[in-house]
Amino acid sequence: MESFNKKMSLINYLKNSGFIKTKKVEEALINVDRANFVLSQYLSEAYEDKPLPIGYGQTISAPSIVAYMTELLEVNEGNKILEIGTGSGYQTAILSYLVKEKGLIVSIERIKELSEMAYKNLERLGLHKNVKLIVGDGSLGYEEEKPYDRIIITAATPVVPKFINMQLKNNGIAILPLGTLEEQKLAIIRKDEFGNIELRYDISVIFVPLIGYEGFKFGKEETN
Ligand code: SAM
Repeated sequence: MESFNKKMSLINYLKNSGFIKTKKVEEALINVDRANFVLSQYLSEAYEDKPLPIGYGQTISAPSIVAYMTELLEVNEGNKILEIGTGSGYQTAILSYLVKEKGLIVSIERIKELSEMAYKNLERLGLHKNVKLIVGDGSLGYEEEKPYDRIIITAATPVVPKFINMQLKNNGIAILPLGTLEEQKLAIIRKDEFGNIELRYDISVIFVPLIGYEGFKFGKEETN
């Protein structure tokens, strides 16, 4: 009961602050419990609006940024979504919940142990059936399942990786934190019906780096 109250007060905060805008994202954040995705030593902080360590120098993002990016992605039932940076699987689970059985989430993580942990977290909630987890360098995207309705990168990238243009469908949306190791802006990329690309910058954010061929070449541990 205490944890339910804490969760609902987090949800109310996210609504009042404008991070949650739609009923469907609110429902996803209520039903996909963040406590399932945090390490046991951080359980008491699961409903606080802050990133938490998940091991290997990586973090589960703050609920506000997860809610905000999910809203920007304008997810529809049945969408095929590519996610780069599976981490704990929390964002993956929210996307899985929103696309429902007919959709598919392909999520790439470079650290095998995190991908395995994410699978267990997703399986426990029954949200693994429409999810394909891949271990590898997501800075190259994932050719095999292209094209995608939506693409989300949950690690900081210095450039817009080339795969986005090649693997995003017409009328698709991609969201990524674009900038330096120290600070990024959320970039929202829209591809119109003719394949023209438009990029718009949104709020400032701080993410752990995307490490890979089209990402950063080295890591900075324990960035949020
Ligand atoms: N969305 C995740 C969650 O809900 O827990 C948090 C993602 S965490 C901020 C960023 C993740 O991106 C880390 O787990 C990191 O290992 C992963 N990552 C970094 N570079 C990557 C790459 N080139 N390909 C795939 N994953 C990468």
